[in-house]
Amino acid sequence: MVNTSRKRLVIGNWKMHGDTAFNSELLAGLRTGIAEAPHCDVAVCVPFPYLYQTRSLLDGSGVSWGGQDVSEHEKGAYTGEVAAAMLADFGCRWAIVGHSERRAYHGESDAAVAAKAAAALASGITPVVCVGETLQEQESGRAHAVIERQLDPVLALGADAVSRMVIAYEPVWAIGTGLTATPEQAQALHALIRKRLQSAGAPQARILYGGSVKASNAASLFAMPDIDGALVGGASLAASEFLSIAAA
Ligand code: PEP
Repeated sequence: MVNTSRKRLVIGNWKMHGDTAFNSELLAGLRTGIAEAPHCDVAVCVPFPYLYQTRSLLDGSGVSWGGQDVSEHEKGAYTGEVAAAMLADFGCRWAIVGHSERRAYHGESDAAVAAKAAAALASGITPVVCVGETLQEQESGRAHAVIERQLDPVLALGADAVSRMVIAYEPVWAIGTGLTATPEQAQALHALIRKRLQSAGAPQARILYGGSVKASNAASLFAMPDIDGALVGGASLAASEFLSIAAA
């Protein structure tokens, strides 16, 4: 049965793309086009230097914004890191944590990802906790075990914390590759995550799917009972495509 109880959420992850001129056009497009997706929460997670510009151009628009990472530390001598309180200072509602690119290129451990989620929550920011298996893990039948392992320290934060999070299932083999999990494949993993959320006392936490989502495949993914929206990379860089996903 299609989910009717949890509000859909579509978040754009710009990754390391954009400049002030490009962003200006994209954010203006989102601001004017958001009326097309009134029943859905819509947000963009932008590179840190553009948070000020994003807040200026989206404030009061119905599109919220966030960062693509957050420090697990509150403050101090952590050169290059950005604290959750700093994100809150820029009006951020969201922080992506544990994106597979950060796990792969920055060695983020499952425990560090959980610590980042806790730090975000402590500043009133909703962490979007990414989990997902690599192609090799999928081919060797380890997808479920990997997701369980990644979830364990996050769910150990307790029911209150977990109920204030969003989980994003992003199979690594589908990110930026044009290969999307079939709706049934994605649903199977979302059902596993839902079961874990239920046992953790947070059955209503939203679970997003991420991995080459575009306007043409969004509706079939969103028809699945445990897919509550999407984390969108490449397709979030064009306002019309991104808003079509939200409208789906
Ligand atoms: C992502 O960056 O989280 C992502 C899902 O990217 P893409 O949509 O480009 O696959």
